[in-house]
Amino acid sequence: MSVLHSISELIGQTPLLELHKLETGPCSLFLKLENQNPGGSIKDRVALSMINEAERLGHLQPGGTIIEATAGNTGLGLALIAAQKGYSLILVVPDKMSREKIFHLRALGAKVVLTRSDVNKGHPAYYQDYARRLARETPGAFYIDQFNNEANPLAHFSTTAPEIYAQLDGDIDAIVVGVGSGGTLGGLQAWFAEHSPKTQFILADPAGSILADQVETGQYGEPGSWLVEGIGEDFIPPLAHIEGVHTAYRVTDAEAFAAARALLQTEGVLAGSSTGTLLSAALRYCQAQTTAKRVVTLACDSGNKYLSKMFNDDWMRQQGLLSRPTRGDLTDFIA
Ligand code: PMP
Repeated sequence: MSVLHSISELIGQTPLLELHKLETGPCSLFLKLENQNPGGSIKDRVALSMINEAERLGHLQPGGTIIEATAGNTGLGLALIAAQKGYSLILVVPDKMSREKIFHLRALGAKVVLTRSDVNKGHPAYYQDYARRLARETPGAFYIDQFNNEANPLAHFSTTAPEIYAQLDGDIDAIVVGVGSGGTLGGLQAWFAEHSPKTQFILADPAGSILADQVETGQYGEPGSWLVEGIGEDFIPPLAHIEGVHTAYRVTDAEAFAAARALLQTEGVLAGSSTGTLLSAALRYCQAQTTAKRVVTLACDSGNKYLSKMFNDDWMRQQGLLSRPTRGDLTDFIA
């Protein structure tokens, strides 16, 4: 193995693991281990792509300031790369976010500005409006705006998609994804439309999100709430190109958390809650097939930041999501 010269070189080229212990019907199911990226999630690719593209387009000058509205994995990815490249990073974060996330971002050198969680789009304290205004008022600042930034899907178009294709010798029947910003879905769909049009896209959506309704009926009603983090929306992210989705599955928190716990106990993969949603949908899709299919899904982030939540039996019981903390709760998933 050669010597690396920057942590950024560890981003991407993630392994693909075939799952053998879960009930996959006639299908082969492969998990792309995005939790192995150095910042712990798929968003490292996107952070690198958006910063490189901002440099290329002249939006960022040496020593400049990057601003984004997020406390999630995008923030961690941006903090990792901003520190490497010598940029200042200001993250505008709603004040309901966990202390661990805020401490982690500050430890990486980001400046975290807390704003109100109880206001909606259009209010000056709403985190996205706040970040946009701050970027306008801060000299040399660039608002990354992942929901409208084409360099977000570009990361998946130019890296994630060709990696999956090469790892499976171009033979992939379906890819199961979730949507937060829509970058993963939009970027993968665009690449596969060109190189493997037979590959279908399956949406894994938390119950309560409006995206599955949009796929099924083209309409949507009132959004609900869900505990799974990083996916599901109350609007249609433009970068997702949701119209390309073949089938959508709605996954409850209980099912998602049980799947993530089963993944750790059976296959040894410590992944986050959105992975539970994707894996549940992938297993349902696989079990519904009558012929052999090759199916891919993603471990979007690491499970270590969920140890006190979905991996904690007490928390699960408090949420009413677990009655017995035994493998017996996982039998639906295990082959
Ligand atoms: N899973 C997790 C844990 C995430 O943080 C995100 C990003 N919000 C996603 C999935 C969804 O990715 P995308 O933004 O590309 O739709």
